Amino acid sequence: MPSPVGHALGGLIVGLAVGDREPGAVRPWALALPVIAAVAPDIDFLWGRHNMETHSLGAALLAGLAVLAWTRGRGPGLALAVALAWSSHVLFDWLGSDTTPPLGVMALWPLSSDFYFANAFLFDAISRRTYRPDFWSHNLWAVAKEVVMLAPVAGAAWALRRRPSSDR
Ligand SMILES: [Zn+2]
Repeated sequence: MPSPVGHALGGLIVGLAVGDREPGAVRPWALALPVIAAVAPDIDFLWGRHNMETHSLGAALLAGLAVLAWTRGRGPGLALAVALAWSSHVLFDWLGSDTTPPLGVMALWPLSSDFYFANAFLFDAISRRTYRPDFWSHNLWAVAKEVVMLAPVAGAAWALRRRPSSDR
């Protein structure tokens, strides 16, 4: 499962691709909220139910609806970006490695409490075992791989976003 760096890059990509936009301008909130939404599901570490309800498309839908309510219906693009950014977290964790059972994420909550795991190992599992001698080297290598995979996509999304709308 990716680090917060990988998840934040996923949220940035979503924000650049589908967030609220004005021609030629990138509004800070339109990027900050998807980034926060993409990292937010791991808040479940606080109450010890990691990879469960917050790691689901149901929670992503609720996050999008919360933004829609907060903007009183005037921010459908931002609400969509937040829901998709939250979903990117579920997708990345599904595609990543996991070393702590139950493996995978409760992706279809509240319809199902089953755990889903792609066996794709696209992202390395971030170790929380601070006592291990390879804690830092393993995690730094995992984060570096996330950046190498996702930063070019974010850069491309940024470049496309910065083009004048008449070029599209
Ligand atoms: Zn997670």
